[in-house]
Amino acid sequence: MAFFKFFSNDVAIDLGTANTLIWMKGKSIVLNEPSIVAFDRSSKHIIAIGHDAQAMIGKTHRDIKIIRPLRDGAIADFEINEGMLRAFIRKVSASWQPARRVVVCVPSGVTEVEKRAVRDSCEHAGAKEVHLIAEPMAGAIGVGLNVHEPVGNMIVDIGGGTTEIAVIALSGIVADESIRIAGDEMTEGIVQYFKRSHNILIGGRTAEMIKCQVGSAVPLEDEIEIEVKGRDLISGIPKMIQVTSADIREALAEPVNEIVEAVLKLLERTPPELSADIFDRGIMLTGGGALLKGLDERLRRETSLPVHIADDPLTAVVRGTGKVLENLSDYSSVLIKSVRY
Ligand code: ADP
Ligand code: MG
Repeated sequence: MAFFKFFSNDVAIDLGTANTLIWMKGKSIVLNEPSIVAFDRSSKHIIAIGHDAQAMIGKTHRDIKIIRPLRDGAIADFEINEGMLRAFIRKVSASWQPARRVVVCVPSGVTEVEKRAVRDSCEHAGAKEVHLIAEPMAGAIGVGLNVHEPVGNMIVDIGGGTTEIAVIALSGIVADESIRIAGDEMTEGIVQYFKRSHNILIGGRTAEMIKCQVGSAVPLEDEIEIEVKGRDLISGIPKMIQVTSADIREALAEPVNEIVEAVLKLLERTPPELSADIFDRGIMLTGGGALLKGLDERLRRETSLPVHIADDPLTAVVRGTGKVLENLSDYSSVLIKSVRY
């Protein structure tokens, strides 16, 4: 019996728009893959998920379609999303014992219907007990904040599809803002910049690489020059041009400004006692977008508050969700109260 207990397949899941991470009870992170699915257009049969599906992008024939089922934080395609979740859970579970208890995080702005869809997906994947937690709450726990204290903390989680901003105190979310502007819009901004200013079409993966390597939110001490290859929109011929990190910053300006605006807006709506706490403690950044060069500095300048980047921001949410799974009774108060139909 002890043997089975040790190999319990209870899991915590960060079902992100860009990446899905799974934490297994008693272990730690056991899966970290892009939230991507390749499936047969006519039968909807799933052909590949995660890294395998990502490797197929741009190389498929017309019967195969590749999607990110969680684009923009909501579940765009229920059926495919469920298939993906089930396949990921199966990948980390021993076949003879499905995941029994699942803690899964959802963006704080999701509707009841979307919560229901996540819960159903987990149940269909074999879970007997499903708990939901809001993403910024999981992020706060993941970075080690004591969310039970009567003290305000501000978390800004910048993912692929959504930016979630929340003020947390006494185990709950006091105020929040959720916008569907995040890493994807930054990447798209770069694609659009090359189209508009250079008549060149570049791929999404190239744009994302440029964003991660030279993207920035404030002027850099040493601006970088890079060579970018794409297809000339007029001649149709491959072409290479040189751009600078200042050009890329310009391309990212709009989504970055919207994220800054959303933070300022939530600060305005924060109750004064909690504002005082945030003045002392500052803002904590999580999610992959926190890695954009100078974003912390930009927020510092605009808010005059201390701004911290979480250690390993891409795993903060799953580490928090995992901590909740490991200590479910201590954290019952932070879970989203379930509404049964
Ligand atoms: P989600 O929770 O929505 O799955 P993640 O927290 O995993 O999102 O973050 C993914 C996003 O972070 C992607 O848009 C990715 O391009 C972006 N990202 C990752 N690393 C960097 C970086 N160094 N600079 C800027 N953006 C980054
Ligand atoms: Mg996330």
